[in-house]
This record gives sequence, structure tokens and C-alpha cells, in this order.
Amino acid sequence: MSDLAVPSVPHRATVRDDVERVLVVTAHPDDVDFGAAGTVAAWTAAGIEVAYCICTSGDAGGFDDTPREEMAPLREAEQTAAAAVVGVSDVRFLGYPDGRLVPSIELRRDISREIRRFRPQRVLTQSPEIYWRRMGASHPDHRAAGEAALAAVYPDARNPFAHPELLAEGLPAWTVPEMWLVGAPEERQDHAVDITATIDRKIAALDEHASQTAHRSDIGDWVRGLGVETGRRFGLPAGHLAESFQVVTIG
Ligand SMILES: [Zn+2]
Repeated sequence: MSDLAVPSVPHRATVRDDVERVLVVTAHPDDVDFGAAGTVAAWTAAGIEVAYCICTSGDAGGFDDTPREEMAPLREAEQTAAAAVVGVSDVRFLGYPDGRLVPSIELRRDISREIRRFRPQRVLTQSPEIYWRRMGASHPDHRAAGEAALAAVYPDARNPFAHPELLAEGLPAWTVPEMWLVGAPEERQDHAVDITATIDRKIAALDEHASQTAHRSDIGDWVRGLGVETGRRFGLPAGHLAESFQVVTIG
């Protein structure tokens, strides 16, 4: 291996096996489905409860001339339908404007509220880092959602003195011990989930986002190709598909 090559798997994370609830925090409708729907489907099949917290309603997305005022409700409906495909019925939209997301105190508070309400042992969100070789994963909104979710997990949600209005709403502090990041730079990814059994549901979930994906007839092949490549990178048996993550343990 040359000095410049990326080590295939530099480190394997240890993940918790006592997880009952996972909260997913993303910037846009469809982000969870591109990055993690196969994993979510595996979790719900195993009896883990999963809830989605989507920071924007994707009102700046789309590829056609759908009137802008129709886009947010359309994309919320698409995300809700896609969630149902992978066993998720608890979907909340925070209503921040698409394309202008910043990791503000208000966003941190609103994510903290969802953490304290749902009380997850794991939060899955988007990496706040720039992944230079795949800029599509590093949309500024994605990084803002990840940054705010990170701050909500540590320290806000666990600190009873942060966002005192949440205590007043009857939401006591809650400690999340583990985070999974999607779209992290490759050298930081240290865990893969085998999605061979759930890839069809992942693609079916993506198909629900018709306003984003209907013009891409190759989306199933593209997603399968990525899954196979990830499986190979993590040493799964030939032909197995995977989604990959950076796992962060917070003591
Ligand atoms: Zn996105």
C-alpha cells in the first residue's frame, strides 16, 4: 500500500447492543433514505424503535416546476411515506428554511427537545465534516444539522441547565451515549451494517421521494453499486451490500 492510499478499514468501532430507541436527525427529507434506510429497516425489523427529526422540509429541492409553496408539504408527505416503508411512523419536521440551515442555539434546542422526548440510546445524524472527495454528502445544510445534533447530544440534552424552557415543558435531561454519523470522510468510517436483506426496502423508500428521484431511472442500480462497494471495503462476503458510519461514543 502506498502512503497515499486510504487504509481499507483502519479501525472497527464497538457498538452498543442494548439500544431500544434510535433518533435520526437530518437536514432534508430523503437524506436518511440515501444514507441509512437499509440500516433503519434492519433496526425496526429487530424491534428497535426509530424516530425521524428532519430539520427542514426540503422546500428548495426538486427538479421540475412544482410551485415552491407546494414543495414543503409534498416533501413532508414523501418522507412520511418513505419512513413507513422502513418501519418508522414517528416523523417530525422542525420547519427550518431549506438551504439556509445553521447550527443555531434555536436548532440545538429543538433537536434537544426531540432527544428528551424520545429518549434514544443512539442518535444517527450527518457528519459535520467536509468530505472532500464526495461533496454531495457535505451539503452545508447536512453539516449544520450534524453540528447542531452533536451539540444537542453533548452537552445540551444531558445538561438540565441548558435550554431551561425544555424543563418547563416537562422534558428532563437525557443522556445519549452513542452517535452514528453518515457522510463522514472515508478514513473516519469505522462501522458497516450489512443491508443485503433490506436493500429492496431502501430502494422502495427512495422511490417514495418522487420529487427528487423520479427523473433518475438508474437510482436502484446506483444505490446497489454503492452498497456493494461499501460491503467490499468492509470485508463483507462477496456480493453483500452495506451502509457505513462513523461511530462516536460519548462518555
Ligand atoms: Zn440533503
